[in-house]
Amino acid sequence: MYLIVSYTSYVSKRSGSLGWSVGLCVSVDIKHQSSSMDLQLQDKVAVVTGGSKGIGLGIVRSLIAEGVKVVNVNRSDAEGRALEAEYAALGKDCLFVQGDLTDTDACRYAVEQTLERFGRIDILVNNAGVNDGAGLDAGPAAFVASLQKNLIHYYAMAHYALDALKQSKGCIINIGSKVCETGQGGTSGYAASKGGINGLTREWAVELAPYGVRVNCVLPAETWTPLYEKCLAAMPDPVAARTEIERLIPLGQRFTTIEELADMAVFLASPRSSHTTGQIMFVDGGYTHFDRKCTMPSDVASFGAAAN
Ligand code: NAP
Repeated sequence: MYLIVSYTSYVSKRSGSLGWSVGLCVSVDIKHQSSSMDLQLQDKVAVVTGGSKGIGLGIVRSLIAEGVKVVNVNRSDAEGRALEAEYAALGKDCLFVQGDLTDTDACRYAVEQTLERFGRIDILVNNAGVNDGAGLDAGPAAFVASLQKNLIHYYAMAHYALDALKQSKGCIINIGSKVCETGQGGTSGYAASKGGINGLTREWAVELAPYGVRVNCVLPAETWTPLYEKCLAAMPDPVAARTEIERLIPLGQRFTTIEELADMAVFLASPRSSHTTGQIMFVDGGYTHFDRKCTMPSDVASFGAAAN
């Protein structure tokens, strides 16, 4: 409910003095009148790729907490089945579809299974991917394989889900990476894939706007997940490496959590972001964009302030 009080100044014709008229206008917006942030996601249907671990798992759990029926498409089996059973015991849907997304038939199958079980798709979350380190020296075959792991299935899932998304006026959330903006070295396939994902987010947002389908991208930088843990474990001193990375993250000198990533994805998937499309949202504690001079330890920061 909005209470609008308008004051209008006027000069009285009779006395010539300045006066005020006061008008009251009460307007009620039915959809947004609740004080809590009801995301209006109850009973929507979402497909999440790579939902068994890490960021995908965070998104699956947050969607289910909002009343969404989720289909998790994942390569490894055990975690997906355990998740399905965990939620089934609570009377909630987290259908597991096993499949390797590098096989486009698996993408088609996942969409078919979703439609068979739930009859609709409101939300597609393209999340599965891996920084596989296919650099310039790896050769064209490795580069193409990296695109298969990180990019082609984003397109395939959107392609196979297209009719259902148009019918539901649904949305797509793509999970990208800071690498497309910053580069990293030694990972051409992954960087090209993530650049492609940003491009496709805008491209699909334009193509699907006439159908009321929104498309957005959530972009992590340093998020603590099993994948990240595995990468650091391969270093000579994983604890020191973690501390060094944390030092570089401006907001709080800590990794982003999977819940923080999921909160943004779920908000973008909800009708509460009904006029947001084609956007690339960095959930990274300022890692990608902040001026390093201002976010490094105080001696460097004070140099930066003096220099500018
Ligand atoms: P993660 O912990 O390894 O989880 C990824 C999940 O996706 C796993 O369950 C994995 O299944 C599944 N998956 C991967 N490739 C698949 C395939 N071809 N077919 C089916 N399932 C597949 O990774 P994460 O860190 O959460 O990353 C999720 C997304 O965020 C990725 O797109 C990644 O590029 C992006 N990202 C992450 C970070 C970060 O800091 N963590 C930073 C930038 C971008 P398995 O169990 O079989 O491996």
